[in-house]
Amino acid sequence: MSSYLSVKEAQQRILKVFNVKPVEFVVLEQANRRVLAQDIIANVNLPPFDNSSMDGFAVRTEDVKLATHDSPVILQVVADIPAGISPALTIQPGQAARIMTGAQMPKGADAVVPVEYTDASQDPNSRLPEQVRIFHAPRPGEYVRPTGQDVRQGQTVLNAGRKLSPQDIGLLASLGVTPVPVYQKARVALLTTGDELIQPDQPLTPGKIRDSNSYTLAAMIEMSDAIPIRLGNAPDDPLVIQKYLDLAVDQKVDLILTSAGVSVGTYDFVRNIIEQHGHLEFWRVNMRPGKPIAFGAYKGIPLIGLPGNPVSSFVGFMVFVRPILQKMAGIPQGRGDFLRVRLAEPVESDGRETYFRCSISVEKGVLTATLAGHQGSANLVGLTKANALLIVPAGVKSLPTGAELEAWPISSDFA
Ligand code: AMP
Ligand code: MG
Repeated sequence: MSSYLSVKEAQQRILKVFNVKPVEFVVLEQANRRVLAQDIIANVNLPPFDNSSMDGFAVRTEDVKLATHDSPVILQVVADIPAGISPALTIQPGQAARIMTGAQMPKGADAVVPVEYTDASQDPNSRLPEQVRIFHAPRPGEYVRPTGQDVRQGQTVLNAGRKLSPQDIGLLASLGVTPVPVYQKARVALLTTGDELIQPDQPLTPGKIRDSNSYTLAAMIEMSDAIPIRLGNAPDDPLVIQKYLDLAVDQKVDLILTSAGVSVGTYDFVRNIIEQHGHLEFWRVNMRPGKPIAFGAYKGIPLIGLPGNPVSSFVGFMVFVRPILQKMAGIPQGRGDFLRVRLAEPVESDGRETYFRCSISVEKGVLTATLAGHQGSANLVGLTKANALLIVPAGVKSLPTGAELEAWPISSDFA
């Protein structure tokens, strides 16, 4: 077993082959969850002009510094400034302008007194008064949002490699950044193989099972910022499997993913096909589940052959495919999403690097892992109950309650 590749070495050998995708430009409506391909440097100030943060009156603080509720200062109202115009006048001593939230401050004024601190009507349809009584002495700048308060021109506001959120998209819109530079999505061809497979909308017949892997894997590809191209399901027939793989070659995909047929069974053809029509880098990794993982190329296109068992293919995807797709998507690599957890029960392993399905909860302030359901590599329910994969390192065969391990969250949004 020690002749098998370690998980780490297999990961490194696979990752080497892939590069970040080229840049493309998408409109803001399509930018959510895409990965930014360039740093965004503001080419304007935000806000672009001094503006009022309240409905009220733009004043000169000098004029109203003695204003109180009992001794108001009376100012002449010389203008009405709604949002959207650029006032031309300058407020002179003794004058004020009615101003709305978001409207540009007039020259001369250096503060806003909210309408609540004046005798003016708060009715939206009220006529412009000739005079206003000011009951409050504002500080210079009070209720004024100064130019550049949010963003300074020249400032880097978002960094390349960031997966854009709705908030980010709002900021890009405010800065006029459209279209947005993002990394192209990788295209991943997906082929399931197996004579026993039928599709989910077909009734079960003797000896058959429903294909679950193509659905799980396609969803995982999408959640890893790539585009699944479903080739379909090939029977255990080398010539037919090749025909499907040729479709992927025609489409110039970035990666071919296959499911099943890479082990040592009589009908496991995928490995042979890669050996004959490309090259096989390795096909066994010292891990559990998912020992038979093939990596190589078919007619020049990188190919990963995942095992057929549903849990094995899920784990194989997490460990080997997701890092590739993140690399191609331009997401910085890191182990940032791993958690340190304590075991709630003793755990036995066989010395391979093992990924148990577990459920993590907080017990007395400590992240604690309990095994979730039956750990067999064909059993999907344990996987649905789990919120993380618990990683027992290679070489470890038994761990007591309370031992500290790493776990990898896999909840609804594993990306
Ligand atoms: P194999 O790698 O062909 O030996 O398959 C290993 C196990 O995975 C077998 O029990 C298969 O029936 C099962 N299996 C293969 N492909 C799928 C699939 N697409 N969905 C669910 N189970 C599968
Ligand atoms: Mg099979």
